[in-house]
Amino acid sequence: MADLTLFNSLTRKKEVFTPINPPNVGLYTCGMTVYDFAHIGHGRKYTTDDVLKRTLTYFGYKVKHVQNVTDVGHLVSDGDEGEDKLEKGSRKFGKTVWEVAEFFTKNFYDSMDKLNIIRPDVIAKATDHIPEQLDLIKKLIDKGYAYDTPEAVYYDVTKFKDYGKIFGQNLEDKKVAVREEVETGKHKKHPADFALWFKTVGRFKDHSMHWPSSYGEGFPGWHIECSAMSIKYLGPQFDIHTGGEDHLSIHHPNEIAQSEGATGLKPFARYWLHTRFLLVDGEKMSKSLGNFITLEDVEKKGFDPIALRYLYLTSHYRKQMNFTWESLSSAQTALTNLRNQLQALKMQTDRTTLSPEKQEKMDSLRLKFSNAIGNDLNTSEALAIVWEVLKSNIPSVDKYDLIMSFDEVFGLKLSEAKHEDKEIPEEIKELSDKRNKLRKEGEFDKADDVRKVIEEKGYTVKDTPGGSLIIKK
Ligand code: AMP
Ligand code: ZN
Repeated sequence: MADLTLFNSLTRKKEVFTPINPPNVGLYTCGMTVYDFAHIGHGRKYTTDDVLKRTLTYFGYKVKHVQNVTDVGHLVSDGDEGEDKLEKGSRKFGKTVWEVAEFFTKNFYDSMDKLNIIRPDVIAKATDHIPEQLDLIKKLIDKGYAYDTPEAVYYDVTKFKDYGKIFGQNLEDKKVAVREEVETGKHKKHPADFALWFKTVGRFKDHSMHWPSSYGEGFPGWHIECSAMSIKYLGPQFDIHTGGEDHLSIHHPNEIAQSEGATGLKPFARYWLHTRFLLVDGEKMSKSLGNFITLEDVEKKGFDPIALRYLYLTSHYRKQMNFTWESLSSAQTALTNLRNQLQALKMQTDRTTLSPEKQEKMDSLRLKFSNAIGNDLNTSEALAIVWEVLKSNIPSVDKYDLIMSFDEVFGLKLSEAKHEDKEIPEEIKELSDKRNKLRKEGEFDKADDVRKVIEEKGYTVKDTPGGSLIIKK
């Protein structure tokens, strides 16, 4: 088997992966802020994590995978005056913050299931770990890394050596990124100091989620949850930590400053991987910009979500990827073609003994695959090897077995015959358009009548921020 090398954002180099305690690997993947729908940008990030996890397993490691659910404390950016994203979701959907969190946590994991992403071993909600976060805050205060003020408990970034240099960032970038807090955090000693505990005073006096603490009633800042929960489930030092490219400037440096400050152990996580964004029309696909496409949208258009997974795998996770429906369509064609070829191979049960040359060919293809995927998860090169196997002269049964062993990493469900056609009939789409038009014109009664007709024909219409979705009942 080849070496597994990963690009480590800490050192900004590709490094051979060696775990602290082989064959065990502790993996922490920053989870979702559950205030709006999961979209296919999230799909890209969590598919990368999933391929990483499957690759580790392929290389013989036993992975313990922990993921947080951010259901409190993550503030929105400048334009929204820095409220908690959960409060924003609560207003938008007319539900309590708790209902919003529950609904979108389910939506997130349901969406990730559609992409055949293996669920984490531990799913940890921030609101279920308030005592752990308070414990860590206390340690940081005791060690002089944090200070209490009338509005919040802050982390003092000047106390953490080289805080501004983590991941090769510079402090100027951070000042921009924390601008919103600078304006409102009057008692900060340094503009890049960040909140560990917000008090329910001032702009947060009506915050709906709050807990008692020795600093006063309040709620945790976003970053402390990941330090507290990763330490709880994986120990003070563990192997791999992942996130999206947006985490390089603030969230992950803050996690490092918190965890290493509190435990005194360095490094907190040894390898840090960051997935670049999925873009749409050249812009980040995001909940806050509202330019997102969900997994349901993908299905609504008649695609198999696994075709989307295939599309993700055609590009490298450290490069941004621009999504288009055309590219998804090509990925769907390739996936269907691949599955058809595998079905054909499955039918041929002519197991012949492998000649030494063919055995050699097979071994070299297997090695080529592990070299590709072991090279910082080069999924597109690994996919190309599948086509090479198909063209090779090894017996059908062995081709099939080899490709299915690769699929342990790809997670493309290649043995499936074909995906069920979920295409929505034209007639139903037209009815939905008609209903949308009526709603725009304020003809809600008439629109409701059209909805009933759609329902009678076996479909449900759901109105979402991304537009109305038609689902087969
Ligand atoms: P959020 O819930 O917005 O905090 O996002 C959860 C994770 O998904 C983070 O690691 C983000 O970096 C990642 N993410 C959000 N949007 C995208 C996108 N368009 N492309 C790739 N990753 C994303
Ligand atoms: Zn995190």
